[in-house]
Amino acid sequence: MSRQIDQLWSGILENIKKEVNGNSFATWFKPIKPAKLEGATLTIQVPSQFFYEWLEGHYSVVLNSAITKVLGPAAKLLYSVIIDSSIQSMQLPSMKKVSPKAKVQSNINERFTFDSFVEGDCNKFAKAASMTVAKSPGGTTFNPLLVYGGVGLGKTHLIQAIGNLAIQNGVVNRVLYVDSERFTMDFIDSIQKNKTTEFSSYYRNADLLVVDDIQFFSNKERTQDEFFHTFNALHNKGKQIVLSSDRPPKELNGIEERLISRFQWGLVVDIQLPDLETRQAILQKKAEENGLELPGEIFQFIATNITSNIRELEGALIRLLAYSSLKGVDITLDLAKRLLKDVCLPQMRAISIEFIQKTTADYFGIPDDMMRAKTRKKEIAQARQLAMYLCKRLTDSSLKTIGLHFGGRDHTTVIHAIAVVEHMMEKNQLREQVEAIKNKIEIAQL
Ligand code: ADP
Ligand code: MG
Repeated sequence: MSRQIDQLWSGILENIKKEVNGNSFATWFKPIKPAKLEGATLTIQVPSQFFYEWLEGHYSVVLNSAITKVLGPAAKLLYSVIIDSSIQSMQLPSMKKVSPKAKVQSNINERFTFDSFVEGDCNKFAKAASMTVAKSPGGTTFNPLLVYGGVGLGKTHLIQAIGNLAIQNGVVNRVLYVDSERFTMDFIDSIQKNKTTEFSSYYRNADLLVVDDIQFFSNKERTQDEFFHTFNALHNKGKQIVLSSDRPPKELNGIEERLISRFQWGLVVDIQLPDLETRQAILQKKAEENGLELPGEIFQFIATNITSNIRELEGALIRLLAYSSLKGVDITLDLAKRLLKDVCLPQMRAISIEFIQKTTADYFGIPDDMMRAKTRKKEIAQARQLAMYLCKRLTDSSLKTIGLHFGGRDHTTVIHAIAVVEHMMEKNQLREQVEAIKNKIEIAQL
């Protein structure tokens, strides 16, 4: 029996693995234990109430559909949550059942709203345009609205928010969200099954059609042709089209000119990389949404170290939350540093030696190229020794590497410098300076 349930569970995990990224899988699905199987009712054991809520809030569709695939349509999911790590447990139902009908209706994720979208200079214009379109789909000159920008910067969130608001305000009947790959696959499928008419009318009857990641239409001639006609049909009827892409329309290689020109009929807006304040605000918002209060320094630490992708920013926070809920410990800055070492450290290390040199030079009011110069003037030599000492203490760099950064000095020079500084500190000299500079460096890295 227990072998059977383990096997089933592995099968379910295999299915889940295909749907979620590696980090989420490790965080949220590895800790689950299959507890009981009665008929088609599977009970899984999760480590905390928080875990249960998170899974239900974010992964219920993924979980339920994986379980249905393995256990059949009658499958039912129950959770058992371990309380205070004792055996005592409480049974909780899976709240949401997959509802295939709702999926066909729009494919829009309710989580992606304007309310949960943090505004910054990077996305202000895109957000304003999106809201305008959402309030009056097809009723503005922003047709199509095309939002472009790099990976993980909020394109999908924003264009789905348009759908959510339009549905909520009741200004449209039929909203459809589809990514271009799905569109392509469904189209090919419809050709094989002789159902292209149904396919066409499905999309051409939308009031608001949202197509994500149109760069994937590249080099798919027949799909592009179909989309061209879909586009025209909708546009002629005054229906709204919203598109996203990872680059501006002109740079969409492998896409027909007539489509590219249509993509630019309405409004093209971009989303840029968020600045530090925006990144912090996003983290704060995500924490709030999950009912969590964290010290500001944690947000600052994550936001300083993850700069290029909001999805990763979120991922870092989620890892902290999961860990603290699993182990029942508070999230502290130390914990954050430890857990996020792999995401954050490469950047911290990369700037370290130069940064230490600069901070030390600034502190002593000397030009930072003096760190690499040959001069033996006493103040300069001492500042240089101190910087070498800090490089050894604050980075993982080898003595050899440190020496090279200080004007190609030998590693024995570095050893000597460290010994001198340590010796002086034992005599309570230099200690204050070392601490002050160390503080400056560490604060700047937060
Ligand atoms: P893209 O489609 O551009 O790759 P997504 O829309 O999938 O990016 O965004 C990645 C994650 O970051 C999502 O979870 C999304 O909710 C979040 N996100 C992106 N931008 C914002 C923002 N401005 N405010 C709040 N969350 C955001
Ligand atoms: Mg996307």
